[in-house]
Amino acid sequence: MTASNHYDVIIIGTGAGGGTLAARLAPSGKSILILERGDYVRREKDNWISKAVVLEGKYKAHEAWRDRDGNEFHPGTNYNVGGNTKFYGAALFRFRKEDFGVIRHKGGLSPAWPVSYDEMAPYYLRAEHQYQVHGNRGEDPTEAPESAPYPFPAVSHEPRMQELHDDLVRLGHQPFHVPLGVMLNEKNSAKSPCIRCNTCDGFPCLVNAKSDSQVLGIDPALQHANVTMLTNARVQRLNTDASGMTVNAVQVEREGSRETYSADIVVVACGAINSAALLLKSANEKHRNGLGNRSDQVGRNYMCHNNSTLLAISRTPNPTIFQKTIALNDFYHRSDDFDFPLGHISMIGKTDADVLRSGAPKFAPHLALDTLATHSIDFWLTSEDLPSADNRVLVDRDGSIRLHYTQNNLEGHERLVQKLKSMVNAIGLEDHMMHNDLYLGKKIPLAGVAHQCGTVRFGDDPTTSALDRNCKMHDLDNLYVVDGSFFASSSAVNPALTIMANALRVGDHLLERLQ
Ligand SMILES: Cc1cc2nc3c(=O)[nH]c(=O)nc-3n(C[C@H](O)[C@H](O)[C@H](O)COP(=O)(O)OP(=O)(O)OC[C@H]3O[C@@H](n4cnc5c(N)ncnc54)[C@H](O)[C@@H]3O)c2cc1C
Ligand code: SF4
Repeated sequence: MTASNHYDVIIIGTGAGGGTLAARLAPSGKSILILERGDYVRREKDNWISKAVVLEGKYKAHEAWRDRDGNEFHPGTNYNVGGNTKFYGAALFRFRKEDFGVIRHKGGLSPAWPVSYDEMAPYYLRAEHQYQVHGNRGEDPTEAPESAPYPFPAVSHEPRMQELHDDLVRLGHQPFHVPLGVMLNEKNSAKSPCIRCNTCDGFPCLVNAKSDSQVLGIDPALQHANVTMLTNARVQRLNTDASGMTVNAVQVEREGSRETYSADIVVVACGAINSAALLLKSANEKHRNGLGNRSDQVGRNYMCHNNSTLLAISRTPNPTIFQKTIALNDFYHRSDDFDFPLGHISMIGKTDADVLRSGAPKFAPHLALDTLATHSIDFWLTSEDLPSADNRVLVDRDGSIRLHYTQNNLEGHERLVQKLKSMVNAIGLEDHMMHNDLYLGKKIPLAGVAHQCGTVRFGDDPTTSALDRNCKMHDLDNLYVVDGSFFASSSAVNPALTIMANALRVGDHLLERLQ
């Protein structure tokens, strides 16, 4: 290895975790190498064509993983600069304060995090600024108090969504505006980067107006001469020195050739499933069960939420373009008839016939799907799944990923679905359940890995966690994991803002360490 292959920091992966960390460390002047297995998402008209994106999966990872029984499936994930944030719906929620403590669910206990909400709050605020979150503080009855407003006002409801909001209020509920990372300027549309289109959730933004970690993480980081990024650079393995305490080589496959890099500090941010897989694949004599896996926690406790999509069919058409503006947390902690958490209700991007076709029987007539799509109001329900040692990422002999997952803690989720059904019926809508994989355009539920987390969890006890509170591996001196892997529990809101805020928190720790 030449001296030119040595850096102060190597960051592997450019998603919510890696991209945010890169932007935080870049101004330090330290030499930073970013390794990303994918390329930039090509900007082209297909970015916004649902047939190409949802039906044909044009930008999805072309990879097969296996389930518990060895059956292959195609995961709903993306390998590109910006990771899955290029495709996310940009709903940027903080976890509830209670999510950081122990929560009693019907299906068991959700464990406490080693850091508190109060420790995370300043980083949430910084992440909300970096990712230009649009929201109205104080509307959501479950959110912790925060004196600073969101950097931008909430994205307004379109008329049909406003009607829905008003109907829910009439029923006694407290709907609120979803905090969103879209660069929309409603006061001055001529100057607004975002054009408020109907292909946001699940699509890359053709005009780069979505707050993703390429546009607001990697691109600003690369403005600094000390930062280099290699794309199409897939990290295959991490090697350690003889003591096993230090990663001294990062092995990369790049466009058919093998390259080796090293750094004083190595950060893995490949997404919860790929980070666990990389650590497991990097087993050596000192780390026989995988790198940093003395606790046997690497790959375990995989979580992805209990998610459902519910289409409420309205007699009047729903011409909404940007639908993802309403959410409801009234059942987050409990309901009048159930003293355990149920979960969170929000919207998905407006479905069209092509999106519906991805979850419909093969011969469903286009006209019927079109009528359904023009009349539907499309809800997204999320409930917490609990960490379980048997829900895990493994690596097969041929190097491919195996994912074992059995759903748990379902009663709260089922009750949430029933609550929403009775609410939509009470306001004159008809309910139709769709498979949760519709969100990702795939028919196999296990493939719905959008909210993957928890596979390399952090904690103060090295026998029950793989990372310490700074997301450094307990067993190694220079190896960190800064993506959704560190979650000790999944909460019932979308994960990205928590991954971003944590990356800023770890970034501060690393800057101190690098001084
Ligand atoms: C359709 C969709 C909608 C979503 N909507 C929302 C939403 O509205 N709100 C929200 O909070 N969350 C949402 N999510 C989830 C959110 O996108 C993820 O939680 C977040 O992107 C995870 O960040 P991460 O850093 O853990 O991983 P990722 O963003 O997945 O980034 C991992 C990166 O590592 C790279 N990589 C992987 N392996 C290697 C390797 N071996 N070598 C080099 N590079 C590697 C990948 O290519 C990728 O760039 C959505 C996800 C999807 C798919
Ligand atoms: S223009 Fe706005 S609504 Fe459309 S994809 Fe981009 S950020 Fe989303």
